[in-house]
Amino acid sequence: MKIEFHGADRTVTGSCHLIECAGQRVVIDCGLAQGGREADARNRANLAFDPARIDAVLLTHAHADHCGRLPLLYKRGFTGRIFCTAATAELARVVLLDSAHLQEEDALRHAARPGVVPGRAAQALYTLADAQHCANHFDPSAVYGTAHELAPGIRVTFFEAGHILGSASLFVELEEEGRRRTVAFSGDLGNLGRPLLAPPVLPPRADVAVLETTYGDRQHKPIDASVEELYHAVAATLARGGNVVIPTFALERAQEILWYLRQGWHEGRLQGLEHVFLDSPMAISATEIFARHVECLQPAIARQIRAGTDPFQLPGIAFTRAAADSRTINRFTCGTVILAGAGMCNGGRVLYHLQRNLPRPECAVIFVGFAARGTLARRIIDGVRRVRILQEDVAVRAAIHTINGFSAHADQRELLAWHRRVHPGLTFLVHGEEAAMQALAPLLRGGRVEMPAQGQVFEI
Ligand code: ZN
Repeated sequence: MKIEFHGADRTVTGSCHLIECAGQRVVIDCGLAQGGREADARNRANLAFDPARIDAVLLTHAHADHCGRLPLLYKRGFTGRIFCTAATAELARVVLLDSAHLQEEDALRHAARPGVVPGRAAQALYTLADAQHCANHFDPSAVYGTAHELAPGIRVTFFEAGHILGSASLFVELEEEGRRRTVAFSGDLGNLGRPLLAPPVLPPRADVAVLETTYGDRQHKPIDASVEELYHAVAATLARGGNVVIPTFALERAQEILWYLRQGWHEGRLQGLEHVFLDSPMAISATEIFARHVECLQPAIARQIRAGTDPFQLPGIAFTRAAADSRTINRFTCGTVILAGAGMCNGGRVLYHLQRNLPRPECAVIFVGFAARGTLARRIIDGVRRVRILQEDVAVRAAIHTINGFSAHADQRELLAWHRRVHPGLTFLVHGEEAAMQALAPLLRGGRVEMPAQGQVFEI
């Protein structure tokens, strides 16, 4: 039995693991690296394994850094299925089509540059047709807590990870020539006390753990403090006549922030709020998918939705799917909260809103999620005073807020609790920056701890 790590080099994220057991080869996640040119090169590089020899794929959740390279598997010879939960299948389809669309646009932009020789321009990593072909191969029959025989010698059980709608940790049971091993993949772990999602369910004890480490070196502030911070920042900005831009991830974070804004509005905390725009076709689609998968939600929210209440409804709210509707947002110079993607500002409609609102000291940008190194979001958070957006120099004069408590990721304490429960003899730390892994490793009780390099293979 072997486990290989193909998305674990402690700098760029993009999850991808491979298990080999009893002649079967199973890939767990196949994500896009995110953040900077290095990530782009990584995404374009050949896969380190032959997709034609893969028997099945397990997908933990629909974030692009976990599913974004799946269409490449099919382009390069994979013909099997992608096993995941029903909510993940729906969300991942939206994510992959969006990703293909962005890549086709990028390729066109590149081809139009002066000096680019026709026929030698960069091709899109994959096209809309490739993404659609991939989405047709989702097998959405994974049910939380129910074991599934994936292939001879490989059984998998999905457990609620509480990270985004449909997300899962995986408990994989392997058997080869009478020898048995169990492996728990954390996937991305969520945290307790989230307003919409059911909390994470810990898998049973396993021989081997593969643990994410996004916040391995940090504790989150209590969520209540973060909500207060959000209300203060929004109210103060509206009071001084500015707009609030919230770069937000389309899956989960956008819905949570809308839900908190709705609460704040009802409690009279957001005086002066006239308009809320959800300016992201992907976030709009995700919000619709939420309402269809009440099985993943907190019971109280599920009851509300079943009773016909829309938990995201706000006075003055507009979902701007069409580009023409999005442009109308430019008319509003105050009293407006704009939620737009991408969360790390490495593309998407948020760039237009940053270009317009960053130079205005009365405005605010509120970051409510993780920003990888090398992204525009990270540079703004790190305090640069000028940034380059859409070929234009933009001064950063708006108030910049970073509220970490909304994270969809478990913090150090929650990662340790997961690890204590799984109690593995061998732990692989993945999906985090070097500092986070180094901080977490000495706190893990018992067993051997490895921080695999890109492409490293281990016998288990
Ligand atoms: Zn994730």
